Amino acid sequence: MVRKIKKKIRLPAPLFKLLNGAKPQFECPLCHYHGPFRDFDNFGGRRLHVECPRCGTLERHRVQYLVVAEILNGLDVSRMKMLHFAPEPFFRDFFASRFGQYETADLCMKGVDYHVDLQELPFADATYDFIFASHVLEHVPDDVKAIREIRRILKPGGLAILPVPVVAEKTVEYPEANPHEAYHMRAPGLDYAEKFKPYFASVETRTSESLPEKFQPFIYEDRSVWPTKEMPLRRPMLGKRHIDVVPICRA
Ligand SMILES: [Zn+2]
Repeated sequence: MVRKIKKKIRLPAPLFKLLNGAKPQFECPLCHYHGPFRDFDNFGGRRLHVECPRCGTLERHRVQYLVVAEILNGLDVSRMKMLHFAPEPFFRDFFASRFGQYETADLCMKGVDYHVDLQELPFADATYDFIFASHVLEHVPDDVKAIREIRRILKPGGLAILPVPVVAEKTVEYPEANPHEAYHMRAPGLDYAEKFKPYFASVETRTSESLPEKFQPFIYEDRSVWPTKEMPLRRPMLGKRHIDVVPICRA
């Protein structure tokens, strides 16, 4: 009971910082907060230094933001057309203010321009210059079909940024969606980027290791306790510090 109440209390950033001053200090690249990050308790155990208490970004958001901001720096995005799948609020503003044309899509999320199934997109070939879909492909039953569709609607030379949660050495396909993992159809592995390679001209991956530690780009969780009752098909991973991965696919 006490634990339940504790989990629900989310202190405002200044108070959280004051009460957790002895914890490791980080910096949020999105909102420029300096101080400790919140830990998370979830079905997979305790995860450390996860969330910026001011803007709510998690490890993956910081990693993706740093990598994508660097990519966009070298592009004339004001002339480009972008499609954003499952748009995260803070990335939505970041992209919408930069791209000449910005559109959003999702299977069922409210407030997007298009309700579409990634496995069968209603868009013409070579429609977009830039596609961003984070933590989407692990939910799609036929992810290879979705990857082919993303490639089809990209213009030649266009970019698709397609990160998934990397939670295994090698990808484990599930026979059905697991409701305890937000209906994931698979546990993507460090090998997941291999799925993109047959369909794109080039596939590059950036990981947490290429980013400054001050932004806390790693996933600190004990994955040796996997599999669990809720996640029976996950395999154990050694270590308590894991990398996040951003695949950059060029058409
Ligand atoms: Zn922040």
